[in-house]
Amino acid sequence: MENKNLYDYTIKDIPELMFENVDAIVIVDPAIDAYKSIVRRGMFETFLSESGIYHDLILDLWFHFNDSNEKVSGDYQIFADNTGIFTSKYSRRLRIVLENETEPHIVQLTVYPFDDNKKYIFVMDEFNDSESLQESLTTKKINTIQNSYLFSMYIDLTQNTTSSINVTEISEDVVNYNLSYTEWRNMIVNMFLPEDQEQFLRRTDPEYLKKNFTPGRTSSYDCMMRNLEGNFIWVKLIFSRAQTDNEEDYRYVFMVQDINDNSMELLSTLQMYEERAIKDPLTGVYNHGEVDTRLHNALTLRQKNNTPVSVMMIDLDHFKEVNDNYGHAVGDTTLKHLAKILQEFSKEENTDPGRWGGEEFIVICREKDSAGAFELAEKLRKKVEEHLFPDVLHVTCSVGVTEFKPEDDFTSAFNRLDKAMYTSKQNGRNQSTLL
Ligand code: GH3
Ligand code: MG
Ligand code: MG
Repeated sequence: MENKNLYDYTIKDIPELMFENVDAIVIVDPAIDAYKSIVRRGMFETFLSESGIYHDLILDLWFHFNDSNEKVSGDYQIFADNTGIFTSKYSRRLRIVLENETEPHIVQLTVYPFDDNKKYIFVMDEFNDSESLQESLTTKKINTIQNSYLFSMYIDLTQNTTSSINVTEISEDVVNYNLSYTEWRNMIVNMFLPEDQEQFLRRTDPEYLKKNFTPGRTSSYDCMMRNLEGNFIWVKLIFSRAQTDNEEDYRYVFMVQDINDNSMELLSTLQMYEERAIKDPLTGVYNHGEVDTRLHNALTLRQKNNTPVSVMMIDLDHFKEVNDNYGHAVGDTTLKHLAKILQEFSKEENTDPGRWGGEEFIVICREKDSAGAFELAEKLRKKVEEHLFPDVLHVTCSVGVTEFKPEDDFTSAFNRLDKAMYTSKQNGRNQSTLL
């Protein structure tokens, strides 16, 4: 268009001016889920088609990762339907990465609803001056800080509405949704790990929120939720009721915070403590307390199901002499070696080994009747007999074996086991006895 004096421009010049200067103009009809491009220039020749599906356009504009054109997981795309609804003028800056490119384009989008908000004009412009790139880098920094919050929203229980959902990895500004609280709750529940869903529904129940939150109160709990990539991560769900003098005013802020790194660290520490609590420090097999629990559990299982469970008790022969002749340290090493034999054996035979105390060990044999357990006992006894222990070289053991009977209680079963082991000792040691 030829240059005119400022005061000569009229409304008739506007279409041509817009056509020459705006990168993209698109008309949208959400009712038929379609868009038509009126102007496509620069990056928009690739990004937009002459016409296309509106839903796909929304996904391309919002529901991709900031630094790629890869889409966020399906769970989050359910927000797309609501993101594409405009009841008033709207403007925001977007980052778009085209296919086969790595650098994002910074795009300003402005939406003008018309025809009673039933259709929209999308005006899009790319910024490529250094100033807006600088701005985008700053935004990125802020995003990194905010990224620990996956999203947040505002809930009004009295109106049954939600608003201002901010998915920080997707957008840095507020997206207004016209989603009822009930709909939102039913939509989002599927993003949680199945075993966490019941708790989410209970804690987001309007009656629960009303009853348990005085004005200004904040409360949170941890659970697992799918992140934007679609993987389950640990999150903290934070609910906070707005300060108010009106008892009928039930407005809440809801936030989802990514606490995965800390939680994983905590879990591995917990696991370490748990291991310490159930393992014998000298030998690394289960300690007395854990063996006791497992014996009780095995007995309960025997009584509930009809699968057999057997137990063996192993006691080293003349172990006192090992200590007396070689010293306590060699005695300890001998016990560690025996424990190692028990562990390897248990791995092969699917049994539970533990230290009952001193030089006495227990092995729980699940799904083994007396004959099967006796066979295992003899196999183990021979392994010990053949093993070359440091310094001491040869050590033998006596074994008692018994099968839990349906009418057994712990004491009766254990007494029989003890007696079986004792019989092996009395009959000359280095043998197994089944009782
Ligand atoms: P038996 O064949 O009748 O079982 O004879 P034994 O000598 O093995 O039996 P006794 O019960 O008389 O002695 C067990 C010994 O085990 C006594 C104790 O000093 C030793 N003992 C118990 N716990 C440990 C330990 O943790 N380390 C070492 N080195 N010795 C231990
Ligand atoms: Mg002994
Ligand atoms: Mg003993």
